[in-house]
Amino acid sequence: MKIAIASGKGGTGKTTVSTNLSAFLAENQSVVLTDLDVEEPNSGLFLSGKLIHAEDKFKVIPEWKKEDCTLCGKCQEVCNFNAVMKLGKMIMVFPELCHGCYACSELCPTNALPMIPKKMGELKHYKLSNIDFIESKLIIGEEQAVPLIKQTIQYVDKNFSNDAIKIFDSPPGTSCPVIEATKGADLVLLVTEPTLFGLNDLKLAVETMNILNKKMGVIINRFGLGDQNVEKYCKENNIEIVAKIPNMRKIAELYSSGKLIYSEIEEVKKEFEKIKDFIFKNNPEESK
Ligand code: SF4
Ligand code: SF4
Repeated sequence: MKIAIASGKGGTGKTTVSTNLSAFLAENQSVVLTDLDVEEPNSGLFLSGKLIHAEDKFKVIPEWKKEDCTLCGKCQEVCNFNAVMKLGKMIMVFPELCHGCYACSELCPTNALPMIPKKMGELKHYKLSNIDFIESKLIIGEEQAVPLIKQTIQYVDKNFSNDAIKIFDSPPGTSCPVIEATKGADLVLLVTEPTLFGLNDLKLAVETMNILNKKMGVIINRFGLGDQNVEKYCKENNIEIVAKIPNMRKIAELYSSGKLIYSEIEEVKKEFEKIKDFIFKNNPEESK
């Protein structure tokens, strides 16, 4: 089963939920936790394990071969991302804008734009008791998260069977990276907080998940902090509130020292039990 933990904005507690849920479920079964927030992965701050595998990840970009080019301009015409441009007697490629779609390369009449690999990031795989923890990180200057997210999910799919519980800590927001991270999920847990900003970003996240036709539930973090509008919105839109993690000073203290919270605070553990029940209630394998 694949579970994506997502939120409309950063700082709502997505990583807290991902790491604590993984450790909680791992008390009884194998769990694969993958940090797909490749610009700033931080699940590793809360889970340390033994590094068992590391690999560089590459994307492909076109490289201009001046000697073969007739300066026909076709490459610029076909690129939807303005990543290749004809400037005077030169063809400029902008790797940070390139989506590696091959269009310019394939349609170049003289094969003057062969695709070459370029390092975009690193993937690391750690093992700690029942948890396989995988994280990928973009190298400095690399702006496109989607290719690395895609390759990281492929690594997980290749190395773990569908029987494993796979938890994906998704990037924040509602743009292409979060879509890539959640589109294959069986269930999406949206983490929010009971504030005006939290509600606004939750609405955007719900809209995105509805477009992707995803089953979802909401986890309210820092419950008790703001108002009841998130609860009202979920009720009106028939979205289940799976758990409410209380707003407690002790949680902030544990978080800032890199500790898990469910094992330290009984009230919080009960909320993670509710999340577990929700997951198993929505497991497609269970309903077969
Ligand atoms: S399509 Fe090929 S030949 Fe034409 S301008 Fe681009 S690189 Fe040069
Ligand atoms: S590979 Fe695709 S995105 Fe990249 S420069 Fe060529 S046409 Fe543009």
